[in-house]
Amino acid sequence: ARWVYAFGGGGADGDASMKNLLGGKGANLAEMSSLGLPVPPGFTITTEACVHYYANGRQYPADLADQVKVGLAKVEEITGKRFGDVANPLLVSVRSGARASMPGMMDTVLNLGLNDETVEGLAKLSGDRRFAYDSYRRFIQMYSNVVLNLEHHMFEEILDDHKERLDITVDTGLTADDWAEVIKDYKAAVRDHLGKPFPQDAQEQLWGAVGAVFASWMNDRAKFYRRMHDIPESWGTAVNIQSMVFGNMGDTSATGVAFTRNPSNGDNRLYGEFLINAQGEDVVAGIRTPQSLTKAAREEMGDTAPSMEEAMPEVFGQFKTVVETLERHYRDMQDIEFTVEQGKLYMLQTRNGKRTAKAALKVAVDMAAEGVISKEEAVGRVEPASLDQLLHPTIDPTAHRDVITTGLPASPGAATGKIVFDSDAAEKAAANGEAVILVREETSPEDIHGMHAARGIITARGGMTSHAAVVARGMGRACVSGAGDVAIFEKEGLFRVRGREFKLGEIITIDGSTGEILAGSPKMIEPELTGDFATLMGWADQVRRLKVRANAETPLDAKTARQFGAEGIGLCRTEHMFFDDTRIAAVREMILADDENGRRAALAKIAPFQKADFVELFTIMEGLPVTIRLLDPPLHEFLPHTEEDVEAVAKATGLDAAKLMRRAKELHETNPMLGHRGCRLGVSYPEIYEMQVRAILEAACEIAKSGKAAPVPEIMHPLVAKGEEMKYLRDLTDRVAKAVLEEQGVDLKYTVGTMIELPRAALRAGDLAANAEFFSFGTNDLTQTTFGISRDDAGKFLGAYIDKGIFEKDPFVSLDQEGVGDLIRIAAERGRAARPDVKLGICGEHGGDPASIGFCEKVGLDYVSCSPYRVPIARLAAAQAAL
Ligand code: PEP
Ligand code: MG
Repeated sequence: ARWVYAFGGGGADGDASMKNLLGGKGANLAEMSSLGLPVPPGFTITTEACVHYYANGRQYPADLADQVKVGLAKVEEITGKRFGDVANPLLVSVRSGARASMPGMMDTVLNLGLNDETVEGLAKLSGDRRFAYDSYRRFIQMYSNVVLNLEHHMFEEILDDHKERLDITVDTGLTADDWAEVIKDYKAAVRDHLGKPFPQDAQEQLWGAVGAVFASWMNDRAKFYRRMHDIPESWGTAVNIQSMVFGNMGDTSATGVAFTRNPSNGDNRLYGEFLINAQGEDVVAGIRTPQSLTKAAREEMGDTAPSMEEAMPEVFGQFKTVVETLERHYRDMQDIEFTVEQGKLYMLQTRNGKRTAKAALKVAVDMAAEGVISKEEAVGRVEPASLDQLLHPTIDPTAHRDVITTGLPASPGAATGKIVFDSDAAEKAAANGEAVILVREETSPEDIHGMHAARGIITARGGMTSHAAVVARGMGRACVSGAGDVAIFEKEGLFRVRGREFKLGEIITIDGSTGEILAGSPKMIEPELTGDFATLMGWADQVRRLKVRANAETPLDAKTARQFGAEGIGLCRTEHMFFDDTRIAAVREMILADDENGRRAALAKIAPFQKADFVELFTIMEGLPVTIRLLDPPLHEFLPHTEEDVEAVAKATGLDAAKLMRRAKELHETNPMLGHRGCRLGVSYPEIYEMQVRAILEAACEIAKSGKAAPVPEIMHPLVAKGEEMKYLRDLTDRVAKAVLEEQGVDLKYTVGTMIELPRAALRAGDLAANAEFFSFGTNDLTQTTFGISRDDAGKFLGAYIDKGIFEKDPFVSLDQEGVGDLIRIAAERGRAARPDVKLGICGEHGGDPASIGFCEKVGLDYVSCSPYRVPIARLAAAQAAL
């Protein structure tokens, strides 16, 4: 098999379409080479080699070594240098590169090929001994950390000792001879720790680094990142070995990153940062604060350091042309890494740039307007789940703003929370339901769980492309980076800023769109859903076939749902209406009643409330379909359980405490999810469902009589399993409906249907369809009953299942398309066979999950129904599913 693909020297073995095999980075390096752009030559070891490595007990393919040799020879030929050669050494970088970008999650080694001898060759070639020794010590540090697993701080301490001895504070103060001393100590430390010397052989170094990159595919950070972004472990990573170019060879050298458009807001302007006389990791690590690329950006930021445009105008001009070429070629916003070595430009990476939802919308809409892409492509360009970011609040512009300092606006949105200083604390607090703001000097990939748990992130150091900024944007967390005034005293549990002090646990707010950090919690406002958002959603609506409804029972939910574009209510859970303070007493009275007459008397008290609820809901929905589900939970959920609660309820309602307690005990069930709930309530206490059906239809008649758009109520029975059950419920519903419509003298259409929440219901869907005009897949219960996993307790072991790769995703979040999906497919087929026009929808949580929506499109459901805030996500996902 072929494991190695070369690039550089004006051509390449691979191209951009080969991301699965070469990883994103490798595929794009090949493509850029073929475009004739200046790319340092190199080669890519394929992801298949990584897969082979893991499938064969961490063994490389037998012929890999030979192919690498050929690849290296080609690089030597193009560069005229030789790997391991003392006089004219070729140095390489070794980097990971998976199919999907995983910024900072895996390992990289730079300057590989340096040893005690080649460092002299590099010194001669570059005419700069100091540079050569600095490169060598960086290499020892990085290689020791990444490949030899030695702690970074060991080297930091050695360096600090030398600086103290020499009485200097900055690295640039060290001379070549000083670095030579540092290197001696570094090597001694390696020997002490490992019992063997730092590897001097370039081949040994190379294979060590390749092994480390493969190994880093399985490190904890990478695993966490994959889980968060649904990246399968089976993909593996490629390894890119590329000849080094140096951005740290003096003041005509530089390194930087650029976006062809602003990744934060989507503005069509070149955007990025660079550092003169620096190596790539300096920019990404956020250790030095970088300079702007363009003069305009520098002026806007009020920076004093010159922009690239001003500092190296000629190279900048060339760079601008390359960047424009790349965006035109890829037809999307690009995220680019480059290096300038002694006045010569090199491209090190390009990829479609990660962007905020706001930027994604703007770039997609703009590019469609520019004629670069079609409207359909624009619809496909925005990640549905990312819309969530836009639906978050911002700070009310009229609110009082106690701004304590301003950093860089690294990731938009506003967030309020308690101050925490480390990621573990953030995770713990979030698990307790607390909102926190993570405040760090800078973040590293180790902080990823804390960033995920926090509502927002502040860093004192680092630019717009620092780790914190990139990761926060990807996660949709608000972030202010580079807030240089913030002095963090983590041990004391506080930070100081401009003479003020903020302690652990105090409430602060950040505005990731302006970079402001504020004391307290100013008033927030809901987002505006106009402009690019409305434009793109309009295009999505033209494309999609699936209708989108919302799960809503309160007037507020219903209004929100409509505002977000819901085309009806797919699930109104009536039990929530029973918990209201004014009704719960009557509900309890009903539960305590000794006989049917007692129950009916209590139900009569609830009926007017129910009717009023439905009138309000129908009014808000203005003639759109509304599916109302009759009572579902087991009755004990409405009763107090502890003695204290029982006493309190008894006192407040005048109900008998002893009787309350006895009834609560009677109704107690060991498996309430599988117990006396759903339509089983309607079968054993038909008067409950009768009251509800009456309330629904009386409300609908009232609306119809008032001359407003008449609703089409869809009356839905939960947890049905058998045809006979459905027939009983159907007859009950029709009997009451007939009576109400006669009383009211109104001719009104209503439909009767069922949820499909049990495997038996799915399998016998034909029996149910005889008496059900619609099915709504209740995939929360259907997942639970298909797997035999309780949705309340699954959290205890699902983590282990996901870690071990048994589940790729939580089946309660993303539909199990194989198993539960099969049941849906069968039910749809058998239901349609029995009743060709049976209406099919889904109302479990999966109705708002983009991957599950894709499945619903495939099976040909009529609609999905989800929580109001997910309606825009569902609209876009439905459109993408139809593309
Ligand atoms: C379901 O089971 O998927 C459903 C929507 O009903 P509930 O979540 O109320 O049980
Ligand atoms: Mg259910």
